[in-house]
Amino acid sequence: MPAASASALPAILDQIHTDAQALFGQGRVASYIPALAEVPPRQFGIAVALVDGSTFSVGDAHTSFSLQSITKLFAFVLALKSVGDELWQRVGREPSGAAFNSMVQLETEKGIPRNPFINAGALVITDILTTRYAHLDYALLGALRRLTDDPELSWNARIARSERDTAHRNMAMAYFMKSYGNFVNDPELVLDNYCRQCATEMSCAQLAQATMFLANNGRDLRRDGSPDEQFLAADDARRVNALMLTCGAYDAAGDFAYRIGLPVKTGVGGGIVAIAPGIGTVAVWAPELDAKGNSVLGAFALEQLVLRTGWNHGQA
Ligand code: GLN
Repeated sequence: MPAASASALPAILDQIHTDAQALFGQGRVASYIPALAEVPPRQFGIAVALVDGSTFSVGDAHTSFSLQSITKLFAFVLALKSVGDELWQRVGREPSGAAFNSMVQLETEKGIPRNPFINAGALVITDILTTRYAHLDYALLGALRRLTDDPELSWNARIARSERDTAHRNMAMAYFMKSYGNFVNDPELVLDNYCRQCATEMSCAQLAQATMFLANNGRDLRRDGSPDEQFLAADDARRVNALMLTCGAYDAAGDFAYRIGLPVKTGVGGGIVAIAPGIGTVAVWAPELDAKGNSVLGAFALEQLVLRTGWNHGQA
């Protein structure tokens, strides 16, 4: 990113933060997970991290929120790192065009979910990781603590419990996939792991840092003075970004690609993370969601940011 644009970022973020306030009240906080319904709706933060190490933030960028489906991104990356291309035998990589929790395609496609970012696909990924790691929640948390340099990072036990108690639909999908032979472990155990995973909490500032490797050819940027590391192979980082661009916003993936044009991953906690390859990462959070489960203010903020910076997915 040219220096002039980086210096313009604070003013751009302030303006977007101000303009977005007009959209409060247009969406609704997720309520199908009862504990999420209690989150105060009028919160909004943006954090930007650039590959040169500089960071910018505005609003509630340091408040922790429930990552929900954004954790599917990290679980998928962990699976890619630990079992590699083998995972494509159990999950596809095509957009589903259906809601994140839809199960209609599972029957016609014989228990193989369309992609790792819809719930069915994420459950298969968690199943793969459950086989690979005896203590999956800590394996995933360990990776996230490393990426954020925050040893305290954790999941919210109350939200995990609340989702687990009402996870009938996800449970049905797990058993359904098992009937096709595409689920190895006990669905009850995998659902425990999945609900803890989804309840992981992070702030926008942490999320922008945790996904930096995707903007930086697979290399993370350490803030604790230790050397940067090739967290993911550069080719795999490129592939993950492609999957985020095509599947990261479920049945709104086409609309997001048109309006924003950056690889994204959204979650029903109201967070969205976007990757500008070669430039940096953007994390936004506002709990009110549109009908497809994506943050209203978050999508607006990302659209405004790309309009004002010219960032796009092909930039290097
Ligand atoms: N934990 C949520 C679920 O399985 C995640 C959904 C989401 O964020 N879109 O329904």
